Amino acid sequence: MKLSMNLPVFEYDVRGLLMAFYPGEEITTGEDAAGKGISVLYGTGDPVPCRISFFSPGGREDAEVLLDLADRSRAKTDLKRVLYGILSRDTGKQLPWGTLTGIRPTKIPMAMLREGKTDPEILAHMEETLLVSPEKAELALQIAKRELQLLDRIDYEDGISLYIGIPFCPTTCLYCSFTSYPISRYEALLPEYLSALKKEIRWAGSRFRGKKLNTIYFGGGTPTTLPAPLMDELLREVEDTFDLTGLLEWTVEAGRPDSVTEEKFRVLRDHPVSRISINPQTMHQRTLDLIGRRHTVEDVKRAYAEARSLGFDNINMDLILGLPGEGAKDVEDTMREIVRLAPDNVTVHSLAVKRAARLNIMKDAYQGYTMDTTDDVMRMCASYLREINEAPYYLYRQKNMAGNLENTGFARPGTEGFYNILIMEEVQTIVALGAGATTKRVQGDLITRAENVKNVDIYIQNIDEMLRRKEQLFS
Ligand code: SF4
Repeated sequence: MKLSMNLPVFEYDVRGLLMAFYPGEEITTGEDAAGKGISVLYGTGDPVPCRISFFSPGGREDAEVLLDLADRSRAKTDLKRVLYGILSRDTGKQLPWGTLTGIRPTKIPMAMLREGKTDPEILAHMEETLLVSPEKAELALQIAKRELQLLDRIDYEDGISLYIGIPFCPTTCLYCSFTSYPISRYEALLPEYLSALKKEIRWAGSRFRGKKLNTIYFGGGTPTTLPAPLMDELLREVEDTFDLTGLLEWTVEAGRPDSVTEEKFRVLRDHPVSRISINPQTMHQRTLDLIGRRHTVEDVKRAYAEARSLGFDNINMDLILGLPGEGAKDVEDTMREIVRLAPDNVTVHSLAVKRAARLNIMKDAYQGYTMDTTDDVMRMCASYLREINEAPYYLYRQKNMAGNLENTGFARPGTEGFYNILIMEEVQTIVALGAGATTKRVQGDLITRAENVKNVDIYIQNIDEMLRRKEQLFS
C-alpha cells in the first residue's frame, strides 16, 4: 500500500488508520499512488481544501473535505472520517474504535466528563463523530468514570510516583519488546547494577523530599529474577529513603513464575509491597513452550498458591489473546482456569507484535500460526471475569494489536492498580530509575521526559549522566 501526501499534515494519523484497516501490510511513501494506495492533497485557502484519492486495481474513489486547521483536533477528525469511509468501503470492515488510532481511547470521555458533559453527549460524540462502536463507547465511558473516582485519591500537585526497572528475565519471550536481558548473562554485574540503582534512589529521595510518594512500581523485565538477598537490599533502600506514609500502592512484577521462590515472596512480605503480578499469559503448555516462557502451567499455580498462603491479597495476572496458534476455545480453557484461581485483577492483552520482538524478526518461522483475536473473545473474557466480580478499570491500545482491539485491566473493587492508570492518563510525575526507564514530568498539560539508556553496562558506567539528565528535567 502506497501513501502519498503533498504535506506531512496528520500523516501519523493517516498511517495509523491505514494500518488499522490493513494489518500486516507495509505502507510505503511514494511520489504517486499508482497500484493500491492513498493520496492526500492539501490545497490552499481557509478552510483548507483536501482531496483524498484511493487507488486500487478495481478502480478509484475521490473525496473532498474542507479542513479548518485553526482547530487541529476537529480538522484531524474530519479528515479521518472521510478516509475511514473510503477504507471501510474497500475492506467491508468497521473498526471497533472507529477513527481513534491513539493509545488512550479513555482520554476523550475523561476530558468530556471533566467539562461536565452528560453521558448521552459523550456517547453521541464517540459514536457519531469518532465512529466508535456503541459497545466500545460505553466501555470507554464506564472506565473513564471509574478512573476519575480512583484518581481522586492521587495528589497531582504535591505527589509523585516511583518506577524502578530491573531489566532481566529468565528467558526472553517471543513477543517481548521491553528492556529485558536473560539474567544468566548478567549475574556477575548484578551488584554493580544495584549499586547504580541505589545511587538513583538516593538522588530521587533527596530531590523529592517533602513530596508525597503515592505509588511505587517495580517492573522491567522481571524484578523477581534478582536473588532474594539483592531484592531485600533494594526494597530496604527504597523503604529507608522515602516517606511511605502517603503510599497507596507498591506493586512488584513477579511476572515469570520461573523467577519466584517462597524465599523471594517472603522478602516481598517483609516490606510493604501491596500488590504483585504473576503472569501466566495462557494456561496452555504448548503455547508457553512456543513463546519461550520456559515454565509450566503448574509453575503458575504453584507460585500463585505460595503467594496466597503468604498473605498476598492483591494479585494480578496478565493474559494475552491472539498468541500463536490459539483460538477462542484455547482462551476459554485458560479463562476457566483463571476463574478457578480467582486472582484479584486480570489484565487481558491483545497480542501486539512490535518491530523489535523476536516474533517479528523471525516472522517467517511463525507464518503457519494464526495470531488473531476478535471482539467476541474479548467479550467472553469479560463475562468470565464478571463471575469473580471483576470489572474493567483501565484500557489502552498499542500499534499492530491483534483484532485491532485493546488491552483491558479488570479488577475487583478496591484492588485496582493506581500506577496503571497513572501511566496511561499522564496526570502525575513518574520518577523512573534503572536501565531503560523513562522519567515523565507532568506539569498540567505539559509533559517532558528524560530517558535512561537501555544498555546495562552503559547505564552502570554513566550513572552520573543519567542523574544529570533527570536533574536537568526538574531544574
Ligand atoms: S516476561 Fe515480560 S519483560 Fe520478560 S521477556 Fe517476557 S515479555 Fe519480556
